[in-house]
Amino acid sequence: MARNAAQKAWFVMSEVVRVRIAPSPTGKLHIGTARTALFNYLFAKKHEGKFIVRMEDTDRERSTDDFERDILDGLLWLGMPWDEGPEVGGPAEPYRQRDRAGIYQAFIDQLLESKAAYRCFCTPEELEQERAEQQAKKLPPRYSGKCRKLTADEAAAHEQAGKPFTVRFATPAGKVEFEDLIRGHVEFDGELFGDFVIVRSDGTPLFLLANVIDDHLMEITHVLRGEDHLSNAGKQILLAKALNLFSPEFGHFPLILNTDRSKMSKRKNPVAISDDYKAKGFLPEALVNFIALLGWSSGTDRELYSLGELIDEFQIERVGRSPSIFDLEKLTWMNGYYIRHLAIGDLANRAEVFITNPIIKQAALKSPEFHLQALSLVQERLKTLAEVEEQIEFFYQDPVYETALLIAKKSNRERTQKALTVALEAVGQLKELTLEQIELALRGAAKNAELADGELLWTVRVALSGRAASPGTFELIEVFGRDEALKRLKSGLKKLG
Ligand code: GLU
Repeated sequence: MARNAAQKAWFVMSEVVRVRIAPSPTGKLHIGTARTALFNYLFAKKHEGKFIVRMEDTDRERSTDDFERDILDGLLWLGMPWDEGPEVGGPAEPYRQRDRAGIYQAFIDQLLESKAAYRCFCTPEELEQERAEQQAKKLPPRYSGKCRKLTADEAAAHEQAGKPFTVRFATPAGKVEFEDLIRGHVEFDGELFGDFVIVRSDGTPLFLLANVIDDHLMEITHVLRGEDHLSNAGKQILLAKALNLFSPEFGHFPLILNTDRSKMSKRKNPVAISDDYKAKGFLPEALVNFIALLGWSSGTDRELYSLGELIDEFQIERVGRSPSIFDLEKLTWMNGYYIRHLAIGDLANRAEVFITNPIIKQAALKSPEFHLQALSLVQERLKTLAEVEEQIEFFYQDPVYETALLIAKKSNRERTQKALTVALEAVGQLKELTLEQIELALRGAAKNAELADGELLWTVRVALSGRAASPGTFELIEVFGRDEALKRLKSGLKKLG
């Protein structure tokens, strides 16, 4: 079904782009939903339109307030406030479907009156039997259309007898076609859909119907969502037509796959923005950047984009059709990149919630300067904020390590003792504790003692940090200061016996 002239004109006239995400609060904000949100947000901002959030919470059993909170908080955390929706309101209020229950009945009545839909009195057992028969004949499961043939009198009799019923759409025969903004020309055979249920036996509309009605009432111009809804678009175009409504433009994003090309699932990849990413020390900037590349590319090999840059660069036409691979390693790399580029005070603020050791917390409060210095020494090495505590621990507590770690490769116990002894002397005699002076003194000490530079520097670094991998020797001495450095070198020497 091509869009008719009147519809086309309407789209041209309605200057304002209005897009929405319509999450069902039956789980936490998922990576896939975050991507849908981001692409909608970018599209809205790019076209100076409105980004709307509508909660599709008609499934009262599975929807919870906590999930809604998680979704909204996640969007805010990622930096995507909505122009209309829960909490902020807007001209198409309310924005939760549970508060819109009264709106749908008139549309359902309209469909029934025009015979575009009919009441179905088939019991679940009858439907089950039908399905079993179809399965046995290797036919795709589809409602037989039995109740479509009921006369008005028969239907009325069933109703009077108090028989429960659902409402089914009388799917018209023939093809439904549309131009998807991402997938291009799409067509479905209406036959394939069968007469699908649009109203449950408790009178509540199913997602397919409520979604069409709300998109109409909220004047949504473009429905941009995941590919799993592609065939729903076919059904929804038919529903809209039966209701005499304009259909919005559609665009369906490609699937997100695990690196082994299986469909992205909780089992293979963490999917909850709050628990699996925010709480694990990922930065929203990194996630936004990473998620943007799940399906979209600028056409160049550039990979790093801020949200503002994405708004400038984003083009829906550049969202591809092939599935995108969720590569956690790449996200982790990106996260490290964004952490390295944080101003040190910003890093300290963001890392605060990840520091739980009371000793470190108190010490950091007492001497913020030292804390910032310690952080700036480990900043390079961080891949997530959650690693901060482990990385800075040794600045605040005596290092714990195996004595053997002090001994550099190709060195031995005696030479290590010598290294520590001469380093102690050199640091003790330093007039100024600048990086330059420290380096000069230690290299000089190594030379005089006929030790390799690397040999001495390794030993001193381990005595200071207790780690095989840590910030550099000179930097550590500078940050620790003379007294603490001497103390740690002495205790290293003592360990060697
Ligand atoms: N409630 C649907 C979902 O969460 C919305 C689909 C749509 O965007 O139209 O998948």
